[in-house]
Amino acid sequence: MYLMKDITRDGNPVLRKRAAKVSFPLSDEDQKLAKEMMKYLEVSQDPELCEKYKLRAGVGLAAPQVGVSKQMAAVLVPAPDENDEPLFKDVIINPVIVSESVQYGALTEGEGCLSVDKDVPGYVPRHDRITLRYQDVNGETHKVRLKHYPAIVCQHEIDHLHGVLFYDHISKDDPFTAPDDTVMIS
Ligand SMILES: [Zn+2]
Repeated sequence: MYLMKDITRDGNPVLRKRAAKVSFPLSDEDQKLAKEMMKYLEVSQDPELCEKYKLRAGVGLAAPQVGVSKQMAAVLVPAPDENDEPLFKDVIINPVIVSESVQYGALTEGEGCLSVDKDVPGYVPRHDRITLRYQDVNGETHKVRLKHYPAIVCQHEIDHLHGVLFYDHISKDDPFTAPDDTVMIS
């Protein structure tokens, strides 16, 4: 199981590389990678286990964050009520945003990242709604429409596959300014 020591941190060149496409059927190694990344998110979202293993809770983890430059990311966005099904849960492979809203969305609290230890305050403007195409671990293609928080999380993870970190999007001059019709998500 991945622990914080396994997570690559800002400054590691793997986080700034464009990740390679993944081919199917997945190798044993890639299957293990997918499983372990999702496992990290599940364990990190369990308050007791999170504390026990000294993890930082996460809703997304991309392969470059565990040192593997491949287009794969685990996403687990829990529902507001923990008894409900997660808002989004899958390992997204070779993901592509096929369309996006003109309207922006941003988290009121800004974003954080398991690979960035320091707090970087400011709004990260992203598309409020996206249509995402990706392959799952079985190579099956999915096309899903996402809005608000799950859309933001997926954009954050896809950025990792392109060598981009969230703070790259924060305005240096005016970190807490967003376009007028930006959907603020708390
Ligand atoms: Zn991140």
